[in-house]
Amino acid sequence: MSFVDVRSWTPAALSVAEAAHRFLVDVAATHGALSVTAVVADRGDAGVEITLRFGAGKQVGGSVSAHVGDDEDVCAAVADRLREMMIDYLFGAWPECPGHGHPAASRRLASAVWVCPTEGEKHFAVPVGRYPHKVNVPL
Ligand SMILES: [Zn+2]
Repeated sequence: MSFVDVRSWTPAALSVAEAAHRFLVDVAATHGALSVTAVVADRGDAGVEITLRFGAGKQVGGSVSAHVGDDEDVCAAVADRLREMMIDYLFGAWPECPGHGHPAASRRLASAVWVCPTEGEKHFAVPVGRYPHKVNVPL
């Protein structure tokens, strides 16, 4: 069970929290057994702090600016930062770019998307929060 724990009810924190929720939906799609809490707190000029707490122990944190554009721009920035934290936690590519072995990158296209960093949309692109459950299911 994963959820977002919002500690500041500011527009910046709520925009980041919405993005963190979409990120956690993708974590659940790929690592359904992993329990992650995303703690979101607005630190004003220092940005919005996000701490990912994994299960009972390890946590990693960082901050993002919520002043990068609209909510989809914020989502792309949050997804990029949280993706780095997931890679640090898993010691592996996340979210996997199907068939390539490297992690997908987050970009702002029509919306915030996960996209192949080398071949772009023609290889793989899905909205953040819509990472497919059925990619690379072990048989
Ligand atoms: Zn790729």
